[in-house]
Amino acid sequence: MVELQANLRPGAEQKVVFITARVHPGETPSSFVCQGIIDFLVSQHPIAKVLRDHLVFKIAPMLNPDGVYLGNYRCSLMGFDLNRHWANPSPWAHPTLHGVKQLIIEMYNNPKINLEFYIDIHAHSTMMNGFMYGNIFEDEERFQRQAVLPKLLCQNAEDFSYSSTSFNRDAVKAGTGRRFLGGLLNDTSYCYTLEVSFYSYIVAGTTTAVPYTEEAYMKLGRNVARTFLDYYRLNSLVERPLAPTPKTRAASCMFLVFWATGVQIIETLGAYSSD
Ligand SMILES: [Zn+2]
Repeated sequence: MVELQANLRPGAEQKVVFITARVHPGETPSSFVCQGIIDFLVSQHPIAKVLRDHLVFKIAPMLNPDGVYLGNYRCSLMGFDLNRHWANPSPWAHPTLHGVKQLIIEMYNNPKINLEFYIDIHAHSTMMNGFMYGNIFEDEERFQRQAVLPKLLCQNAEDFSYSSTSFNRDAVKAGTGRRFLGGLLNDTSYCYTLEVSFYSYIVAGTTTAVPYTEEAYMKLGRNVARTFLDYYRLNSLVERPLAPTPKTRAASCMFLVFWATGVQIIETLGAYSSD
């Protein structure tokens, strides 16, 4: 958690980015991605300093510590897939989930806090690259705005694929953090599952699969963090210029304008969907 004074002055509204990881204990890459986010945010990088001045990051890096300790692949100590219990977590059966959800609801009910982003980090056993799952909203503008962050991330991270990013409302996913909080939070909040491949990525325009390393996972995390600067520049929270311009990959992401077009909608995902 990084909270600096500029965000905490009396009466100021806090813009909060809430990040969770490792709800599925076998998905070790999610911890490296989360580590990359944390390392960047606490660093002296000029972008990190600006982010700390404007935003509050709340990070729960391991939602399922018992499962990790036991070496479980997907479940908690008591055999629950915690990412199916966001709707009604029990303090006895799902204590970590219950605690994090309580914190999020307290922030949601605080008029001085605007919870703008929730990102839950996972790893995927069959898909390549990094990509996201998002939600489907009836409000077309909200739906389009939701696509902005993953499109910006695609510009910053060569291993992140916008074309693999999809938006769904499958009934089976109703208990996930991304789905539940997407239905709870207000219409200026965006909730995503960030997935990263267990094994490799293909850079756009090439055909060679590059094996992921621990460092590559952490680099994706760093790129996630710095993408918030691009997002808030677009939304005029942060003035520009204020830091060295990051390298971008606009051409391979196939978009150059703010408003998203061609958002991929998948109503029913098959066996490969695993958040
Ligand atoms: Zn998962």
